Amino acid sequence: MSQIPYKIYLTEEEMPKAWYNLRADMKNKPAPLLNPGTHEPMKPEELAGVFCEELVKQELDNTTPYFDIPEEILGFYKMYRPSPLVRAYCLEKKLGTPAKIYYKFEGNNTSGSHKLNSAIAQAYYAKKQGLKGVTTETGAGQWGTALSMACAYLGLDCKVYMVKVSYEQKPFRREVMRTYGASVTPSPSMETEVGKKILAEHPGTTGSLGCAISEAVEVATTTEGYRYVLGSVLSQVLLHQSIIGLETKAALDKYGIKPDMIIGCAGGGSNLGGLIAPFMGEKLRGEADYRIIAVEPASCPSLTRGKYAYDFCDTGMVCPLAKMYTLGCGFIPAPNHAGGLRYHGMSSVLSQLYDDGLMEATSVKQTDVFEAAETFARVEGILPAPESSHAIKVAIDKALKCKETGEEKTIVFGLTGTGYFDMVAYEKFHDGQMTDYIPTDEELQASFDKLPKMD
Ligand SMILES: *Cc1c(COP(=O)(O)O)cnc(C)c1O
Repeated sequence: MSQIPYKIYLTEEEMPKAWYNLRADMKNKPAPLLNPGTHEPMKPEELAGVFCEELVKQELDNTTPYFDIPEEILGFYKMYRPSPLVRAYCLEKKLGTPAKIYYKFEGNNTSGSHKLNSAIAQAYYAKKQGLKGVTTETGAGQWGTALSMACAYLGLDCKVYMVKVSYEQKPFRREVMRTYGASVTPSPSMETEVGKKILAEHPGTTGSLGCAISEAVEVATTTEGYRYVLGSVLSQVLLHQSIIGLETKAALDKYGIKPDMIIGCAGGGSNLGGLIAPFMGEKLRGEADYRIIAVEPASCPSLTRGKYAYDFCDTGMVCPLAKMYTLGCGFIPAPNHAGGLRYHGMSSVLSQLYDDGLMEATSVKQTDVFEAAETFARVEGILPAPESSHAIKVAIDKALKCKETGEEKTIVFGLTGTGYFDMVAYEKFHDGQMTDYIPTDEELQASFDKLPKMD
């Protein structure tokens, strides 16, 4: 067979035309979202007050395997997709490993991450419904940027609540969003009831994703013509992100490559859920087997140390309850945590797959993550996002393991984005000032004690 190229691209004709809904092939479906008041499954009409109608349908659909991607979204995708699947020849050589390493690079767009794949879809359905605008939260800023880009393209208003610590640490990220016409408010803010309440209880808080979500939801539900959109965690987001895995699989199939291991970083689970979707589908249908590994920060370890329980998706407890691996919705990672992936819970789809033993999870310390990021940047050229570097760290570890055993495993990992806006974190690492904080069992227990009591 011909030598595998450094970059495997798909032609426009080869690009996927439909998203794949992994839930259709799951025997144990993810648990339904519950109304926080009644603990009954959320009805479509209840969700429609918060989300766009078409997205509610996608959220609740556990049976339709494929959703056609609307023409307008396909056209937008073609501006920055297909994303390359890169054979990491240079990294392999540097490590001296017999393993074959591939990464799917999603950082080739201005948002610097995979988030644009779902942002354009969600903005499209909001526009189609005739809405004026959308609200959302952003942590590190990639989602807010992606949504601003999508809203600018479609002519929708975009209000972003940005976790205060990121707002202050990443002024340039904020300006990118404003360039695309979004309004950006540091969260918690005094603009919302829930923001005021959180500030009264925790004066001086640097904010959290859960808290920013509460604010964005409050504004969406109290402003005429607005809905809330979310960049991760929800099943609809995993559906849109399946484009990553479908492209990866099509590119690998072109050269007859079958991965042994698929590795992805996991915050709320959207890139990982998208990357693994078609592979996990084969696994669920008994057609193939793959080792699938989620990588999370040791400072925010929802899969590896969390509880599988119903919890709020947000700190303000206004959102529906989701059954997921969670650290408790009040959990806020230590302020020295700089590596992203700071959400307290995990996609209910991935939580169920993990609980069923269909995938593995591991956690890594942030100093090790930045070391891996640097190794990668120096040989592969791309400056990785700290989030993505969690996957790099484990891919490198597995490749080094192959060096010991002499096994020629094929490793695929998701390189979700670039780290140009994370230079404060890189600076800390270079100056030897980065520390690792791992929560104690007592701290986690205190947070678990506040999980909602069911029945
Ligand atoms: C948001 C983000 C993540 C984590 O989110 P998931 O929903 O878990 O994928 C990972 N990498 C980058 C670059 C991100 O922007």
